[in-house]
Order: sequence, then C-alpha cells, then structure tokens
Amino acid sequence: ADLAMYRAKDTVGRQICYYEQGMDEAARARRVIANDLREAIPRGEFSLAYQVQRSVSTEAVTGYEALLRWRHARDGWVSPEEFIPIAEESGEIIRIGEWVLRTACKEAAQWEQPWRVAVNLSAVQLMHVDLINIVRLALLDSGLPATRLELEITETAFVADKQRALHILRQIKALGVSIAIDDFGTGYSSLDTLNSFPFDKIKIDRSFLLESETSHQARAIVRAVLALGRSLEVPVLAEGLESAEQLRLLRHEGCDEAQGYFWGRPMPRPLPHHAAEAAAAERAEPRPPIAAVG
Ligand code: C2E
Ligand code: MG
Ligand code: MG
Ligand code: MG
Repeated sequence: ADLAMYRAKDTVGRQICYYEQGMDEAARARRVIANDLREAIPRGEFSLAYQVQRSVSTEAVTGYEALLRWRHARDGWVSPEEFIPIAEESGEIIRIGEWVLRTACKEAAQWEQPWRVAVNLSAVQLMHVDLINIVRLALLDSGLPATRLELEITETAFVADKQRALHILRQIKALGVSIAIDDFGTGYSSLDTLNSFPFDKIKIDRSFLLESETSHQARAIVRAVLALGRSLEVPVLAEGLESAEQLRLLRHEGCDEAQGYFWGRPMPRPLPHHAAEAAAAERAEPRPPIAAVG
C-alpha cells in the first residue's frame, strides 16, 4: 500500500512538471505571435477571404462575410482562431480590426454587384473610443454605402459594460450600418442580450447545425432560435451549412439565410458566377426603378 501511494505521488509530480513545461512553451509561442502580429500589416501578410451568404428559400446571394487570413513569413497560414485571441490580449486587434474594416469596405465597393459585406468586430474594438470614427472613415474613404456594411459581434462583447456597448451600437446603427449577433447560443445570457440590444440579424452558431442531423436536442435548439427570430422580427442566418440535408432542414423550419462549405469556402473575392447569377435574376424579375441620386 505504501508503495502504491508513493507511485501515485510520483506520477502526479511528474505530470505537474510536464504540464508546466508545456505551459511555458505555449506562453513563449504566444509571445512570438504577439510580436510578429505587429509587423503583419506593414509586411502585407494579411488578406481577406469572403464567404458567400445566401437566402435559404431562393438561394440568391445576399452577402459575404469577410474573414481575416494571415500568411506568416516563416510559419505559413496561421488560423484566426489562434491569432485573434492573442491580438485581443495585446491590444493589436485595434489596428488589425481597422485594417480589416477599411480593406473590406474598399474591396466590397469594387464588386460587380452591390452585395452586403459582413465584418467581424472584436469586443475589444467595441470598447475602443474611436470605433465610430473608424467605421465612418472606412465608409467615407471607400465610398461604400453604409447600408452595405454589417458588423458581426459576439455576445461576450456586451457583458463587460452594457451601457457603453448600447451607446456605441446605437451610434453605429445611426450611420445606417447593421449589426448581427455572431455565434448565437454559445455565449451566456443570450436572451438578455437579445432583449437589451438592437440587432438586425441573429447568426446561429455552427455547432447546432453540425449536430442537427444526429441530435434531437440540436434540432430543437435550431427551431427555437428560428421561432425567437420570428417573434422578434429579426432574420436568422445559420452558420456552417455543409449538406443538402441540413439545407432541407433549414428550409423546412423557415430559416432566412445560411452560409457554409455547402455553398463555398471563403474566397479572395466573390466568384464570377455569383455576379452572373445576380444579373440573370435581375433580368428575369426587373426591379422597380429607383429614383436617381446625385
Ligand atoms: P466566425 O465569425 O463565426 O466565422 C465563421 C468561421 O466558420 C470561419 O472560420 C469560417 O471559415 C468557418 N466556416 C464557414 N463555413 C463552415 C462550414 O460549413 N463548416 C465549418 N466547420 N466551418 C465553417 P475562420 O475564418 O477560421 O474564422 C474563425 C473565427 O475567427 C471567426 O468565427 C471569427 O470569430 C474570427 N475572425 C475571423 N476574421 C476575423 C476578423 O477580421 N476580426 C475578428 N475580430 N475576428 C475574426
Ligand atoms: Mg462571424
Ligand atoms: Mg460565427
Ligand atoms: Mg466563430
């Protein structure tokens, strides 16, 4: 018995030691990334990839989500899941986020069709004093109409300082920019967030659709969020659409929009056939004339 106890202690001791060594290495890797992130803009290592979003009922393109891509000079592609949290911690996300916003507006203004572009905002950016001016300047310099810009924000952004967050959201909306709540269902106080903030769209986190084919509970959650959207009169977009089966489910449940690998991976720019589709749809169904401006 004495021997067994000794061994257990020994094992625990070694594990703790191993764990700490691992932590040290992870911390060092994070420091390297934090450092390299500061050089990424001047070195031209960032680019944006756009993922198409479509209407579930008509499959017409409704917009694109801009996703940041980082090609590190030495390490190659680094995932945003890895470097965004580090950039948030170091504060570098302020400059990076501004680059993303300006670049997305500039590129979207050049597209063949006036599609909406959705840009991810970090909670850190939301609390930054100058956000409203950064958004205003990005629109002004690119010439992109405010109504074509949507900002995606996760629920965690609203936890820290509700009053301030609300104030900033109202200012953004006053510009004509719309706000989507991203990864809905994975944060906490979801219902409270919906109740307190003026959202224009709910994006259901992709984990629910992923499990919808096998899990009765996940399907029930998708259905519940869609019902919520309907009663609040807020359109719902499902993330992570990967199969025709999932599309059938979304159609059956009356989901408004979706995006996912089923319709395409994020790409450097909208595909030419997307513009051709939109042009064909316009020919088939001419829109009422709009009064000329300017
Ligand atoms: P997100 O905003 O929820 O973006 C959706 C993520 O899901 C993207 O990953 C996209 O490539 C991926 N995705 C799209 N369709 C599918 C699908 O059918 N199946 C699966 N499994 N995945 C799909 P990505 O580009 O790696 O970005 C990850 C996260 O990093 C984003 O999640 C967002 O939170 C953050 N992020 C990306 N770009 C930016 C940015 O410019 N600013 C900020 N603050 N965050 C960003
Ligand atoms: Mg997003
Ligand atoms: Mg999301
Ligand atoms: Mg996400």
